[in-house]
Amino acid sequence: MRGVITDYHLHLRPDEADTPPERYFTAENVERYRAAAAAAGVGELGVSEHVYRFRQALDLWRHPFWEEQAENDLDAYCEFIRSTGLKLGVECDFVPGAEERTAELLAARDFDYVVGSVHFVGEAAVDHPGWDIWERGDDSDEIWRRYFATLAECAGCGLFDVLAHPDLVKVWGRGRPLPDGDLRRFYEPAVEAIAGSGIAVEVSTAGLRKPTGELYPSPAFAEMCVEAGATFALSSDAHLPDQVGFEYERAIEFLGELGVGEICVFDRRQRRQEPLGERAAAESPPVRDNP
Ligand SMILES: [Zn+2]
Ligand SMILES: [Zn+2]
Repeated sequence: MRGVITDYHLHLRPDEADTPPERYFTAENVERYRAAAAAAGVGELGVSEHVYRFRQALDLWRHPFWEEQAENDLDAYCEFIRSTGLKLGVECDFVPGAEERTAELLAARDFDYVVGSVHFVGEAAVDHPGWDIWERGDDSDEIWRRYFATLAECAGCGLFDVLAHPDLVKVWGRGRPLPDGDLRRFYEPAVEAIAGSGIAVEVSTAGLRKPTGELYPSPAFAEMCVEAGATFALSSDAHLPDQVGFEYERAIEFLGELGVGEICVFDRRQRRQEPLGERAAAESPPVRDNP
Protein backbone atom coordinates (compact mmCIF):
# COMPACT_ATOMS: atom_id res chain seq x y z
CA MET A 1 0.00 0.00 0.00
CA ARG A 2 1.35 3.42 -0.93
CA GLY A 3 1.41 6.37 1.45
CA VAL A 4 0.89 6.44 5.19
CA ILE A 5 -2.16 6.11 7.39
CA THR A 6 -1.72 7.36 10.95
CA ASP A 7 -3.63 6.92 14.16
CA TYR A 8 -2.00 9.27 16.63
CA HIS A 9 -4.79 10.32 18.91
CA LEU A 10 -5.51 7.18 20.83
CA HIS A 11 -5.93 6.07 24.40
CA LEU A 12 -4.96 2.70 25.82
CA ARG A 13 -7.93 2.74 28.19
CA PRO A 14 -11.50 4.04 28.48
CA ASP A 15 -12.27 7.34 30.23
CA GLU A 16 -13.73 5.53 33.20
CA ALA A 17 -12.92 4.92 36.81
CA ASP A 18 -11.02 1.74 37.65
CA THR A 19 -8.79 1.77 34.56
CA PRO A 20 -5.37 1.63 36.27
CA PRO A 21 -2.06 1.66 34.35
CA GLU A 22 -1.15 -1.81 35.57
CA ARG A 23 -4.09 -3.22 33.63
CA TYR A 24 -3.88 -1.07 30.46
CA PHE A 25 -0.30 0.12 30.07
CA THR A 26 0.87 -3.41 29.34
CA ALA A 27 2.63 -5.13 26.44
CA GLU A 28 -0.44 -7.37 25.98
CA ASN A 29 -2.80 -4.42 25.62
CA VAL A 30 -0.44 -2.66 23.20
CA GLU A 31 -0.36 -5.87 21.17
CA ARG A 32 -4.18 -5.72 20.87
CA TYR A 33 -3.91 -2.17 19.50
CA ARG A 34 -1.16 -3.16 17.08
CA ALA A 35 -3.20 -6.07 15.77
CA ALA A 36 -6.24 -3.82 15.33
CA ALA A 37 -4.09 -1.24 13.52
CA ALA A 38 -2.73 -3.86 11.15
CA ALA A 39 -6.27 -5.07 10.42
CA ALA A 40 -7.43 -1.50 9.77
CA GLY A 41 -4.50 -0.65 7.47
CA VAL A 42 -3.02 1.85 9.94
CA GLY A 43 0.77 1.90 9.58
CA GLU A 44 1.76 4.64 12.01
CA LEU A 45 0.50 4.33 15.58
CA GLY A 46 0.97 6.62 18.57
CA VAL A 47 -0.58 6.94 22.02
CA SER A 48 -1.85 10.21 23.49
CA GLU A 49 -3.18 9.63 26.98
CA HIS A 50 -5.13 12.45 28.66
CA VAL A 51 -2.75 14.69 30.57
CA TYR A 52 -5.33 15.21 33.32
CA ARG A 53 -5.09 11.57 34.37
CA PHE A 54 -1.57 12.24 35.64
CA ARG A 55 -0.65 13.91 38.93
CA GLN A 56 1.70 16.34 37.15
CA ALA A 57 -1.32 17.95 35.45
CA LEU A 58 -2.34 19.49 38.77
CA ASP A 59 0.49 21.97 38.20
CA LEU A 60 -1.61 23.26 35.26
CA TRP A 61 -5.11 23.30 36.70
CA ARG A 62 -6.91 22.39 39.90
CA HIS A 63 -10.38 21.92 38.50
CA PRO A 64 -12.30 19.45 40.71
CA PHE A 65 -12.61 17.01 37.78
CA TRP A 66 -8.83 17.05 37.35
CA GLU A 67 -8.31 16.65 41.11
CA GLU A 68 -10.41 13.51 40.93
CA GLN A 69 -8.75 12.15 37.75
CA ALA A 70 -5.06 12.92 38.34
CA GLU A 71 -3.96 9.60 39.79
CA ASN A 72 -1.08 8.29 37.68
CA ASP A 73 2.53 9.21 37.00
CA LEU A 74 3.22 10.90 33.66
CA ASP A 75 6.87 9.83 33.54
CA ALA A 76 6.04 6.17 34.10
CA TYR A 77 3.58 6.45 31.19
CA CYS A 78 6.23 8.01 28.93
CA GLU A 79 8.74 5.34 29.86
CA PHE A 80 6.23 2.59 29.14
CA ILE A 81 5.18 3.94 25.74
CA ARG A 82 8.84 4.38 24.72
CA SER A 83 9.48 0.74 25.62
CA THR A 84 6.76 -0.37 23.18
CA GLY A 85 8.20 1.34 20.10
CA LEU A 86 4.93 3.22 19.50
CA LYS A 87 5.04 6.98 19.01
CA LEU A 88 4.82 8.87 22.29
CA GLY A 89 2.16 11.54 22.46
CA VAL A 90 -0.08 13.14 25.02
CA GLU A 91 -3.48 14.82 24.78
CA CYS A 92 -3.03 18.07 26.63
CA ASP A 93 -5.90 20.42 27.42
CA PHE A 94 -5.39 24.08 26.72
CA VAL A 95 -5.65 25.80 30.10
CA PRO A 96 -5.89 29.59 29.68
CA GLY A 97 -3.36 31.33 31.89
CA ALA A 98 -1.26 28.18 32.35
CA GLU A 99 0.70 28.46 29.10
CA GLU A 100 4.11 28.72 30.74
CA ARG A 101 3.52 25.82 33.10
CA THR A 102 2.15 23.77 30.20
CA ALA A 103 5.26 24.55 28.13
CA GLU A 104 7.46 23.40 31.01
CA LEU A 105 5.56 20.16 31.52
CA LEU A 106 5.76 19.34 27.81
CA ALA A 107 9.40 20.38 27.33
CA ALA A 108 10.50 18.13 30.19
CA ARG A 109 9.44 14.98 28.25
CA ASP A 110 10.52 13.66 24.86
CA PHE A 111 7.13 13.49 23.19
CA ASP A 112 6.86 12.80 19.47
CA TYR A 113 3.83 15.07 19.31
CA VAL A 114 1.33 16.84 21.55
CA VAL A 115 -2.38 16.85 20.76
CA GLY A 116 -3.97 20.06 22.05
CA SER A 117 -7.60 19.90 23.17
CA VAL A 118 -10.43 22.04 24.37
CA HIS A 119 -12.92 20.09 26.49
CA PHE A 120 -13.63 22.83 29.03
CA VAL A 121 -14.74 26.39 28.41
CA GLY A 122 -14.22 28.17 31.68
CA GLU A 123 -15.22 25.72 34.40
CA ALA A 124 -17.75 23.80 32.31
CA ALA A 125 -17.28 21.03 29.76
CA VAL A 126 -18.68 20.79 26.26
CA ASP A 127 -18.54 16.97 26.24
CA HIS A 128 -18.91 15.84 29.86
CA PRO A 129 -22.41 15.51 31.32
CA GLY A 130 -21.05 15.92 34.84
CA TRP A 131 -19.85 19.47 34.09
CA ASP A 132 -22.30 20.29 31.35
CA ILE A 133 -21.94 23.77 29.88
CA TRP A 134 -25.46 23.45 28.50
CA GLU A 135 -26.99 23.43 31.98
CA ARG A 136 -25.85 26.96 32.79
CA GLY A 137 -28.50 28.88 30.91
CA ASP A 138 -26.39 30.36 28.10
CA ASP A 139 -27.82 30.19 24.61
CA SER A 140 -26.23 28.14 21.89
CA ASP A 141 -24.71 31.13 20.09
CA GLU A 142 -22.91 32.19 23.25
CA ILE A 143 -21.66 28.67 23.98
CA TRP A 144 -20.42 28.14 20.43
CA ARG A 145 -18.81 31.57 20.33
CA ARG A 146 -16.94 30.95 23.58
CA TYR A 147 -15.94 27.42 22.59
CA PHE A 148 -14.40 28.58 19.30
CA ALA A 149 -12.71 31.57 20.96
CA THR A 150 -11.02 29.11 23.35
CA LEU A 151 -10.21 26.79 20.45
CA ALA A 152 -8.58 29.73 18.67
CA GLU A 153 -6.41 30.37 21.72
CA CYS A 154 -5.50 26.68 21.83
CA ALA A 155 -4.60 26.69 18.12
CA GLY A 156 -2.60 29.89 18.37
CA CYS A 157 -0.68 29.37 21.62
CA GLY A 158 2.18 27.48 19.98
CA LEU A 159 2.23 24.72 22.60
CA PHE A 160 0.74 21.93 20.52
CA ASP A 161 1.38 20.03 17.28
CA VAL A 162 -2.15 18.82 16.51
CA LEU A 163 -5.51 20.48 17.17
CA ALA A 164 -7.83 17.74 18.47
CA HIS A 165 -11.48 17.20 17.45
CA PRO A 166 -11.79 20.82 16.28
CA ASP A 167 -15.57 21.25 16.55
CA LEU A 168 -16.15 19.08 19.63
CA VAL A 169 -18.89 21.48 20.76
CA LYS A 170 -21.25 19.64 18.36
CA VAL A 171 -20.68 16.29 20.13
CA TRP A 172 -24.27 15.96 21.42
CA GLY A 173 -25.81 16.45 17.96
CA ARG A 174 -29.54 17.00 18.25
CA GLY A 175 -29.28 16.51 22.00
CA ARG A 176 -28.39 20.19 22.40
CA PRO A 177 -29.57 23.29 20.54
CA LEU A 178 -27.61 24.16 17.41
CA PRO A 179 -27.05 27.83 16.55
CA ASP A 180 -29.07 29.10 13.60
CA GLY A 181 -27.74 29.88 10.17
CA ASP A 182 -24.31 29.58 8.64
CA LEU A 183 -21.92 28.14 11.23
CA ARG A 184 -18.84 29.53 9.50
CA ARG A 185 -19.05 32.68 11.61
CA PHE A 186 -18.01 30.58 14.62
CA TYR A 187 -15.12 28.87 12.82
CA GLU A 188 -13.50 32.07 11.59
CA PRO A 189 -11.37 33.00 14.65
CA ALA A 190 -10.12 29.43 14.98
CA VAL A 191 -9.17 29.21 11.29
CA GLU A 192 -7.28 32.46 11.58
CA ALA A 193 -5.33 31.09 14.56
CA ILE A 194 -4.67 27.79 12.75
CA ALA A 195 -3.26 29.69 9.77
CA GLY A 196 -1.12 31.84 12.06
CA SER A 197 0.44 29.03 14.09
CA GLY A 198 0.58 26.25 11.49
CA ILE A 199 -0.84 23.69 13.94
CA ALA A 200 -2.05 20.54 12.17
CA VAL A 201 -5.83 20.12 12.12
CA GLU A 202 -7.02 16.72 13.29
CA VAL A 203 -9.54 14.86 11.18
CA SER A 204 -11.10 12.58 13.78
CA THR A 205 -13.55 9.75 13.28
CA ALA A 206 -14.54 9.88 16.98
CA GLY A 207 -17.58 12.01 16.16
CA LEU A 208 -18.99 9.07 14.20
CA ARG A 209 -19.25 7.13 17.47
CA LYS A 210 -20.98 10.01 19.27
CA PRO A 211 -24.51 11.44 19.07
CA THR A 212 -23.37 13.99 16.45
CA GLY A 213 -22.61 11.15 14.03
CA GLU A 214 -20.20 13.38 12.05
CA LEU A 215 -16.48 13.59 11.54
CA TYR A 216 -14.59 16.37 13.30
CA PRO A 217 -14.24 18.94 11.75
CA SER A 218 -17.40 19.64 9.72
CA PRO A 219 -16.97 19.96 5.95
CA ALA A 220 -17.40 23.76 6.06
CA PHE A 221 -14.79 24.13 8.81
CA ALA A 222 -12.40 21.79 6.99
CA GLU A 223 -12.82 23.70 3.72
CA MET A 224 -11.94 26.94 5.49
CA CYS A 225 -8.82 25.26 6.91
CA VAL A 226 -7.78 24.09 3.44
CA GLU A 227 -8.27 27.59 2.02
CA ALA A 228 -6.12 28.94 4.84
CA GLY A 229 -3.31 26.54 3.91
CA ALA A 230 -3.64 24.26 6.95
CA THR A 231 -2.07 20.82 7.27
CA PHE A 232 -3.96 17.81 8.60
CA ALA A 233 -3.47 14.86 10.95
CA LEU A 234 -5.60 11.72 10.99
CA SER A 235 -6.83 9.92 14.12
CA SER A 236 -9.64 7.86 15.61
CA ASP A 237 -9.41 8.97 19.27
CA ALA A 238 -9.78 5.26 20.07
CA HIS A 239 -10.30 4.27 23.69
CA LEU A 240 -10.52 0.55 22.87
CA PRO A 241 -8.49 -1.61 20.46
CA ASP A 242 -11.52 -2.15 18.20
CA GLN A 243 -11.74 1.61 17.62
CA VAL A 244 -8.27 1.93 16.04
CA GLY A 245 -8.73 3.18 12.49
CA PHE A 246 -12.47 3.34 13.11
CA GLU A 247 -14.42 4.31 9.95
CA TYR A 248 -11.22 5.45 8.25
CA GLU A 249 -12.72 4.85 4.81
CA ARG A 250 -14.92 7.86 5.50
CA ALA A 251 -12.09 10.05 6.78
CA ILE A 252 -9.87 9.20 3.80
CA GLU A 253 -12.70 9.92 1.38
CA PHE A 254 -13.36 13.21 3.20
CA LEU A 255 -9.72 14.29 2.87
CA GLY A 256 -9.75 13.28 -0.79
CA GLU A 257 -12.83 15.40 -1.46
CA LEU A 258 -11.07 18.33 0.19
CA GLY A 259 -8.12 17.83 -2.14
CA VAL A 260 -5.82 16.97 0.77
CA GLY A 261 -3.27 14.40 -0.38
CA GLU A 262 -0.78 14.58 2.50
CA ILE A 263 -0.96 14.14 6.25
CA CYS A 264 1.39 15.01 9.07
CA VAL A 265 3.82 12.53 10.58
CA PHE A 266 5.74 13.39 13.76
CA ASP A 267 9.06 12.42 15.33
CA ARG A 268 10.28 14.09 18.52
CA ARG A 269 8.04 17.05 17.74
CA GLN A 270 9.44 17.46 14.22
CA ARG A 271 6.73 17.37 11.61
CA ARG A 272 6.86 16.21 8.03
CA GLN A 273 4.13 15.69 5.45
CA GLU A 274 3.69 12.34 3.77
CA PRO A 275 1.29 11.17 1.08
CA LEU A 276 -1.93 9.87 2.60
CA GLY A 277 -2.37 6.12 2.20
CA GLU A 278 -4.94 5.16 -0.35
CA ARG A 279 -7.30 3.23 1.76
CA ALA A 280 -7.77 1.56 5.09
CA ALA A 281 -8.89 -2.05 5.32
CA ALA A 282 -12.46 -2.45 4.14
CA GLU A 283 -14.42 -2.98 7.28
CA SER A 284 -13.98 -1.73 10.80
CA PRO A 285 -16.59 -3.01 13.20
CA PRO A 286 -19.22 -0.53 14.40
CA VAL A 287 -18.07 -0.12 17.98
CA ARG A 288 -19.94 2.61 19.81
CA ASP A 289 -18.92 4.07 23.10
CA ASN A 290 -20.77 6.17 25.59
CA PRO A 291 -20.75 9.86 24.78
ZN1 LIG B 1 -10.32 14.95 23.64
ZN1 LIG C 1 -8.78 11.81 23.19
